[in-house]
Amino acid sequence: MIKPIIVGNWKLNGTQESIKIFLNLLNKFLVNYHEKCTVVISLPILYAYLIRNTLLFDNKNFFLGAQNTDNHNSGSFTGEISPIMLKDLGIKYVIIGHSERRFNHNETNRMIANKFFLLKKENLIPILCIGETKQEKLENNTINICKKQIDSIFDICGIQAFNDSIIAYEPVWAIGSEISATPKEAQFIARFIRQYIVSRTNDRIKNFFIQYGGSVTRKNAKNLIKQKDIDGFLLGRSSLQIEEFTKIIEIIHV
Ligand code: PEP
Repeated sequence: MIKPIIVGNWKLNGTQESIKIFLNLLNKFLVNYHEKCTVVISLPILYAYLIRNTLLFDNKNFFLGAQNTDNHNSGSFTGEISPIMLKDLGIKYVIIGHSERRFNHNETNRMIANKFFLLKKENLIPILCIGETKQEKLENNTINICKKQIDSIFDICGIQAFNDSIIAYEPVWAIGSEISATPKEAQFIARFIRQYIVSRTNDRIKNFFIQYGGSVTRKNAKNLIKQKDIDGFLLGRSSLQIEEFTKIIEIIHV
């Protein structure tokens, strides 16, 4: 079994105080999980310095993540943060294409592919979120939507694009809801994603992971991680509570 990768996406949540408390507890917990799991916390980026101040920064299996990047490296782009800046901060993983960015900030597949390109150029690891809306699912369009979102990356970044990268399959209807995809549904799409990428990469893909995201909790984590093509999770709400987050890390090893 490959080492699972768990990413917490904290979105617009946390204060210096609450983050310090969380990180200290996580630090204590992870002592026993050094070799078993890769853990990434994508916190609001201005708080990144808090991680530098904890022992977590020395843990080989713990990484700092970002929730987004701009699709330029520098210039007149007020309010943005670039891949080069993220790298400079010690960040390794960067979420792009989250449905909240696609819908709330009108991000297109092309813009996301440009971000992917720049992240790879800086040797950062993109976590590309893909997935269908409820309507698209009802119209049996899941595969088409995922394929389009993947194709836009191949178009801009070439056939080796997905080496050293992660795709998070996140059905939009499952995010922030009470309904997760079933293990069977998640596996079906994860398998499609893997086969499609392997076929387009001429079988030479390396260090490529597929996560599932969307209402993962301690209740469904075990059955989801058992699926052959699911290598880890992208967690929203469950990453905000230390008990739930660490419980999920425990569960995936049983
Ligand atoms: C997410 O926003 O990426 C997510 C998976 O959220 P949640 O776990 O809360 O559904």
